[in-house]
Amino acid sequence: MSRLEEYSSIPAGFLECEASELYRILDGPTLIHLSGAKREPLFICTLLHGNETTGLQSLQRVLKHFDGALPRSVSMFIGNVEAARYRQRHLPSQLDYNRIWSGGEGNEHAMTRKVLDIMADRDVFACIDIHNNTGRNPHYAIVATQEEVHLALARRFGHRIVYATYPDTSCSAAFSKICPAVTLEAGVVGDASGVDHVSRYLIDCIQSDDWRDSDTDDFNLYHTVAVVKVRETCSVGILGEDKDIELLPDVDRFNFHLMDAGTQIGTTRNAGGVCLSLEGVDRSSALSDYLTTANGELRTVKPIMPAMLTTDCEIIKMDCLCYLMERLL
Ligand SMILES: [Zn+2]
Repeated sequence: MSRLEEYSSIPAGFLECEASELYRILDGPTLIHLSGAKREPLFICTLLHGNETTGLQSLQRVLKHFDGALPRSVSMFIGNVEAARYRQRHLPSQLDYNRIWSGGEGNEHAMTRKVLDIMADRDVFACIDIHNNTGRNPHYAIVATQEEVHLALARRFGHRIVYATYPDTSCSAAFSKICPAVTLEAGVVGDASGVDHVSRYLIDCIQSDDWRDSDTDDFNLYHTVAVVKVRETCSVGILGEDKDIELLPDVDRFNFHLMDAGTQIGTTRNAGGVCLSLEGVDRSSALSDYLTTANGELRTVKPIMPAMLTTDCEIIKMDCLCYLMERLL
């Protein structure tokens, strides 16, 4: 169900509820407005991907911390409650809830348009959308524009910032047109340090009037140049699993590390890279600019930094093999 539910207080049981049990309390995508001392609300979004639970756990901790006395209003959007029930990114019948925030004529698109309209009417202060990775990645923030207010919001989270204009249908990309907006990638699900880090960050943002004075020197900015996808007709697995694409079992160790030209990340039995496609920002670039499949070995062509490499092959099929990045600053 993709009809938007709206509340003006915390639903009973919400603060103790596990993500997979939320369906007992919430009927579907839900926007919860809590008023605080400062009127303009911080928009906090979680569970756009139903298997990514760090955001919900952090929100619960933050709400208990303030115990009803919020220094600033908060509007929480709890996204894919149905997929969370089954611990899935999204259900097979659903669209990816972080790809429905611009364009499109479906029910889901109408629902997110409504969320954006409601938050614009309320003079939204900033947008924070919280995610997890399936592979090992350091914590980082993603911005859709390089304007200073967005970068400043990201810097509060940490010194790794990714500037990505693709996909442009994400929640934070849509919100970046009306307020400072970031996507947080807070490590793997179940890692307590992710909940600690995100909770501290949310408390900081809720208490702040203005974050633009934060330290402006100490950060690394990366730019997503391409996204590598595995074609639907091809299978993907780990070395020795007899699939079209097979990855090194520890391939996620390359995330946020500069891979030299010629670094092997896996094997392929389909010559010419027919199982891989490149989607991305720069339409003039081709897969062969970045990866080669010569001799059945999947290797980098030039020095490049990946993110989101994972050994969870279901997620690779649903989303992508990896993002490829270059360092800007
Ligand atoms: Zn996600």
